[in-house]
Amino acid sequence: MESAKIAKENNFCRDCGKKVEIEGEELKNAKMLVYDNQGEKIKIIKCDDCFKKNPGLADFQKCEVYSRIVGYLRPVGQWNAGKKQEYGERKEYKPSCCN
Ligand SMILES: [Zn+2]
Repeated sequence: MESAKIAKENNFCRDCGKKVEIEGEELKNAKMLVYDNQGEKIKIIKCDDCFKKNPGLADFQKCEVYSRIVGYLRPVGQWNAGKKQEYGERKEYKPSCCN
């Protein structure tokens, strides 16, 4: 298991949803699991109770995101580098009719 930087806030146990405590740069009552998914680092936080029950990640499934590009809906993971950059720069908004 590798160490990884911990965000200062909004850290919740992946399994039970309990908020985990952070002291300085360390998780106080939880473990961080870092997985390598074909070069992409995936960080999972588990509280100590859930880590004792199951120290691994059993039901992870990567989400495939589709979006519209040059007129077609295509999986973003299959776009070329330039189009992926453009996707990252897109801004999401909610039309006023849908609030
Ligand atoms: Zn938990």
